[in-house]
Amino acid sequence: MREKHGFLIGLKCRECGRHYPKEALHVCEFCFGPLEVEYDYVAIGNVLTRERIEARAPTMWRYRELLPVAGEPTIGFQVGFTPLVRADRLAKQLGLREVWVKNDTVNYPTLSFKDRVVSVALSRALELGFDIVACASTGNLANSVAANAASGGLKSYVFIPADLETGKVLGSLVYGTNVIGIRGTYDEVNRLCSEIAGKYGWGFVNVNLRPYYAEGSKAMGFEIAEQLGWRLPDHVVVPMAGGSLITKIHKSFKEFVELGLVDKHPAHIHGAQAEGCSPIVNAFKAGTDIIKPVSKPNTIVKSLAIGNPADGFYSIQTMKQTGGCAENPNDDEVVAGIRLLAETEGIFAETAGGVTVAAAQRLVAAGRIKRDESLVLCITGHGLKTREAIDGKCGEPRVIKPSLREFAALVENENV
Ligand SMILES: *Cc1c(COP(=O)(O)O)cnc(C)c1O
Ligand SMILES: [Zn+2]
Repeated sequence: MREKHGFLIGLKCRECGRHYPKEALHVCEFCFGPLEVEYDYVAIGNVLTRERIEARAPTMWRYRELLPVAGEPTIGFQVGFTPLVRADRLAKQLGLREVWVKNDTVNYPTLSFKDRVVSVALSRALELGFDIVACASTGNLANSVAANAASGGLKSYVFIPADLETGKVLGSLVYGTNVIGIRGTYDEVNRLCSEIAGKYGWGFVNVNLRPYYAEGSKAMGFEIAEQLGWRLPDHVVVPMAGGSLITKIHKSFKEFVELGLVDKHPAHIHGAQAEGCSPIVNAFKAGTDIIKPVSKPNTIVKSLAIGNPADGFYSIQTMKQTGGCAENPNDDEVVAGIRLLAETEGIFAETAGGVTVAAAQRLVAAGRIKRDESLVLCITGHGLKTREAIDGKCGEPRVIKPSLREFAALVENENV
């Protein structure tokens, strides 16, 4: 079934407003500001209704008019519409009444929210004629580029810090991509990728395709609003690496309000990073929007360990404009957060999920989130990918002989 498109107008500089064609461009030539996708909102407003969205397949592409592809999506059309789970048992532990988990640990196909951004970036890469795609990644993006490129028949290169978790490394290698491990930090990987993009002209999803890539994150916010019954929550806690997701959740809420799909409502958007690499949270807490880069990240939360976040400035604006806050729990709190989410809701999140849960605990303790207010936690990746973080921290199996007597001794001993 083909539907009308053409809602994607072009690119526009976020700082000086200059217009650019809808090509593989990402920085303004005049002021070096980031470029952002422009849509024809009037035309979108004429066609996009709740009913129309609800009639479509349960994927992120049900919001296709607000995603930057010119035609039909060609890669990843099964991605998104992950469960929004009512988390009453977790709510009780947090001392709140209404908590929801946006569960992107089960996103298709690579179990993290990055499948959203990659689906958009690679569909757009095909429209722009790229046959080699690539990325700089802290792990999840590499997994998603590798898998989605494989399914789309594209050649791919993924660049990662060489010391990532084994689950993340294997989770790229298995797809037959070219995995390049760099002995250095993510920021060094990213710098190298900018040079490679310039020299080889490949489609780097988070470099020259970044304006398209970043828009994919909006789908997480659209889904939250729709799945809450077409309303915005009082609070959202979002993990931050480069700071793109948090700004796009904000944008998604604004677009839904402007299009009349949800009522205007003050949704406070809070950002979370791990203490060992929290340049955005540090700046927010210091009351400045100038980010001081972290040169040597030191945390188990590798997926969020970006020392010089590209969207740091804009993520601080998001928190300020929405009345949100920033928190940076330490690694022990992260492990406790992973376990709390698993034990109360049966959801096994990666380290970034532990950051989100632990940050929410801090925000409740500080009185920023109140008992009667609704809260959505963005849980962005699956725990099997970061096993190292909790190895040996969840107890051990009790090993016995295959004997009823041994089992009885064990269980009856415990139940006295
Ligand atoms: C990439 C990532 C994020 C957020 O990334 P941004 O760069 O801030 O958009 C959050 N959680 C996980 C697990 C990620 O991989
Ligand atoms: Zn500009």
